[in-house]
Amino acid sequence: MKIGTPREVESGENRVAMTPDSARQLQKLGYDCMIEAGAGAKAGFSDETYRDAGVEVVDSADVLWAGADIIAKVRIPTLDELDYLTADKTLITFFNPGGNEEGLNKAKEKGANVIAMEMVPRISRAQKMDALSSMANIAGYRAVIEAGNNFGRFFTGQITAAGKVPPAKVLVVGAGVAGLAAIGTSTSLGAITYAFDVRPEVAEQVESMGAEFVYLDFEEEQQDGSATGGYAAVSSPEFREAQLKKFRELAPDIDIVITTALIPNRPAPKLWLEDMIAAMKPGSVIVDLAAEKGGNAEGTVMDEKIVTENGVTIIGYTDFPSRMATQASTLYSTNIRHMLTDLTPEKDGQINHNMEDDVIRGATVTHQGEITFPPPPPKVA
Ligand code: NAD
Repeated sequence: MKIGTPREVESGENRVAMTPDSARQLQKLGYDCMIEAGAGAKAGFSDETYRDAGVEVVDSADVLWAGADIIAKVRIPTLDELDYLTADKTLITFFNPGGNEEGLNKAKEKGANVIAMEMVPRISRAQKMDALSSMANIAGYRAVIEAGNNFGRFFTGQITAAGKVPPAKVLVVGAGVAGLAAIGTSTSLGAITYAFDVRPEVAEQVESMGAEFVYLDFEEEQQDGSATGGYAAVSSPEFREAQLKKFRELAPDIDIVITTALIPNRPAPKLWLEDMIAAMKPGSVIVDLAAEKGGNAEGTVMDEKIVTENGVTIIGYTDFPSRMATQASTLYSTNIRHMLTDLTPEKDGQINHNMEDDVIRGATVTHQGEITFPPPPPKVA
C-alpha cells in the first residue's frame, strides 16, 4: 500500500506529516511513500531529501490523493480535501471531530476511514502517538521564547561591570503538558519561576523542575480542581476567588505570565483580569496559550499581539507548533509513524484497522461508512 502526504492547504501552516526520516521507517513497515512536491519545504525538508529517502515526489494534490491508500496530514481537512476520499482510503490527521460535523458526514458519505490524532486515548501505551502532547510541549517551549523576544531584559540575574541585573519573574498558570514545558524552559533560562494549577498533585513536579508552586490561602482538601482522567474541572466560586486574590497579589511583581489553563470541552477560564494587567509593570509580557479557547487573560486577541495602554504586551498566537515547523513535523510524523506501526502488525505494508484495539478504536471517527465518534470509554486506564 502507499502512504501519501499532501502539501497543507491552510495558509500559514508550515508543518508536514511525513519527514524523510519517518518515510524511511514507514518503508520498513512495508509501505511505499509518496509526497506532494514542496510539502516539506516550509519545515526545512526539500523534495530532494525525500527522494533520497526513497519517497516518490508527485506534482499535484490530485495525483497524491488519487494514488495514496493512506493519507497522512496535519491540519483539519477542508471539504475539498475530503472530496478526494474513497471507500478504500484511510485518512490520518487532526480532525476536531467534536466540532466538525460537516467533515464527519462527508467522510461517512465517502465510506472512508478517518483516524483523528487528537482522539488518541491518553493512556500510557498510546503516549508515543499522543500528538496533542507533542504539540503542547512545543507550544510551552515556544511561549517562553516568544515572551523573551518581547521582553526588554534578561531572564537570568547578572552582576556585570555595568551594573546588577535582577532576574525576571515568570508565572506559569496551568501545569499540564504545555505548562510544564514552559516551566522547564523558563527555569533553564534562569528566571525565577512560579507556577499554579488547580490540581495540587502537580506541585511536586513543578518543584522538581526548579519552580515554586503557588499555594492558595485555601484548605487544600477543598481544592476542587481534580477530576477523573487527570483533567481539571470548573472551580467553585470560593476557590476561584482565592485564586484571583493570589494573582492580584502577584501581578505587580511578575514580569512574564504564561497562561495554559484549560478545562476539557469548555471555554478557557478567565484568570488574568484587567485589573491584574493594569497592575503589571510596563514592558511585562503575557503569552496566552489558551487564546484559541477564548483566552485566560482579559484582552487577549486570538492570533494577534497587542500592547495595552500601560505597556503590557499580550500575545494570543495559536500557531506556536507551526512556528517551529521542523521540530513539530519531526515529532508529529513520529506520532503518525507509531500509529501506523500499530495499524500494521504484520509489517507487510497492509493496514489492519483493528477496531478491537482500544487506541485505534478511540481515534477512529469514521469507519466503513459509519460515524464512530464519540468512542466508547477506553477499557484500559
Ligand atoms: P490541558 O491542556 O487540558 O489543561 C492545562 C492545565 O490547566 C491542566 O493542568 C489543568 O489542570 C489546568 N487548569 C485548568 N483550570 C485551571 C485554573 N482555573 N487554574 C489553573 N490551572 C488550571 O491539560 P493537558 O496538558 O492536556 O493535561 C491534562 C492531564 O492529562 C494531566 O493530568 C496530564 O498529566 C494528563 N496527560 C496524560 C497523558 C498520558 O497518559 N498519555 C498525556 C498527556 C496528558
